Amino acid sequence: MADNRLQNESFVRQKTLGKAVHLDGIGVHGGQKAVVTLHPAEANHGIVFRRVDIAGPNNLIPARWDQVVNTNLCTVIGSDAGLTISTVEHLMAALAGCEIDNVLVDIDGPEAPIMDGSSAPFVDLIVSAGSRSQDVPRRALQIQQAIEIDDGHKHLSIQPHKYLSVDFQLEFENSGLASGHLAVNLVNGTFNKSIGPARTFGFRSDIEALQAAGYGLGGSLDNALVVDGETILNEGGLRFKDEFVRHKILDCVGDFYLAGGPVLGQIKAIRAGHALNNALLRKIFATPGACRWVNMLQSEQQASPAFAAA
Ligand SMILES: [Zn+2]
Repeated sequence: MADNRLQNESFVRQKTLGKAVHLDGIGVHGGQKAVVTLHPAEANHGIVFRRVDIAGPNNLIPARWDQVVNTNLCTVIGSDAGLTISTVEHLMAALAGCEIDNVLVDIDGPEAPIMDGSSAPFVDLIVSAGSRSQDVPRRALQIQQAIEIDDGHKHLSIQPHKYLSVDFQLEFENSGLASGHLAVNLVNGTFNKSIGPARTFGFRSDIEALQAAGYGLGGSLDNALVVDGETILNEGGLRFKDEFVRHKILDCVGDFYLAGGPVLGQIKAIRAGHALNNALLRKIFATPGACRWVNMLQSEQQASPAFAAA
């Protein structure tokens, strides 16, 4: 399709992996072992998960906002046939950060492994595979008008912007340590350096109830930060002094990559999480004129500065 935006600038091309790569780990909620294999895929394939422990052909789940079936504590995607894969957001964030468009993700169980609780192991895996440019322009979802959503004291909005940026306000009554504010422009590979290594977290006081409800069964100090008031229980401490809000931005980047491609817009979040991220995507696609698909320009992923004024 013709795109009459700036013609003196080159379009970005779609990318896939240079070769297949795999890793294994355990699911943070179910606690079961899982092997993940990332395969290169042709242009316009998108990111598609495949449950290889289930016989085909109905074992494919496209990584898309309209396949999200649950957002309680993590993002779960599901197929029309009722198969699900939980906790896809940290892998999705790594694929977004590495600007990979086309990949087939094989997984031999119902939950992606948590690894160290961040996206860094997935980023390392993708980097180890190398990437291959494809002869088709990269498609980005350009936000055309402001869309917002409120749920009690949680708020999430997006407005038109040249590239993806996220401004996140995280507030906890029971922990000043875990609270924080950060604004980041997701350009120039900033995700991989400054957001990807931030780990997921939980409060010590919530663990018992969480596990009684069947969540966090694979959780440990090896794959999550555990906070007790103003104290971190993990021996090595924090990777960033504001690691908590960085992880919330990581989740946001992963959830929004379920748009089906990179999003060009400025996100503002207050206490938002997986549920609101998916609700905003649904509202964007349900609102006439709120967005359009465009061929992505170089300046939409290479721009400065990385950190907006916080
Ligand atoms: Zn997360």
